[in-house]
Amino acid sequence: MDELKRIIRDVPDFPKKGIVFKDITTLLADGRNFQRMIDLMAHRYLGQGIQKVVGVEARGFILGSALAYKLGTGIALVRKPGKLPWKTLRKTYELEYGTDTLEIHIDAFEPGEKVLIADDLLATGGTVAAVVDLVQQLQAEIVECAFLAELEFLQGRKRLPEGKVHSLLQF
Ligand code: IMP
Repeated sequence: MDELKRIIRDVPDFPKKGIVFKDITTLLADGRNFQRMIDLMAHRYLGQGIQKVVGVEARGFILGSALAYKLGTGIALVRKPGKLPWKTLRKTYELEYGTDTLEIHIDAFEPGEKVLIADDLLATGGTVAAVVDLVQQLQAEIVECAFLAELEFLQGRKRLPEGKVHSLLQF
């Protein structure tokens, strides 16, 4: 795990002053460690009856599709507004300054389908809390929210369903 953590690059003052951004592109570009990361994340869910992975735009698509392939499931996309072509359910949520909106197709799941939500990084939890709400409104069952990395000091997991959050790496 330490090697995976070391490969993730810290970018100071991105996207604005005072924020140290965890840049995972350095890990995505490293074939051996990208494979290790996906294998380690998928291992936890093999045999758990996951029926669909939910990928969150944009880096969650990369992790989510690799996980879905390993688990032999489909993937449902959660996207920024106006990108999905079919009828959607929308969720607007608060950011530090302003709001953001996410969408999912209304027929993304069968009722009761067992889903795994995947994203690259858990910070304040606002993004995936909105995804959880969308998935629950569509009556799917959330098995867990899976993250490559978690910024523990922001306590984002407190905003997500208790006991249903897992991160491979903690900062
Ligand atoms: P949250 O809603 O505050 O938990 O922020 C999480 C979302 O913002 C995820 O979709 C991440 O991709 C993105 N994000 C926030 N901070 C970082 C970071 O340091 N590195 C990479 N992505 C980040």
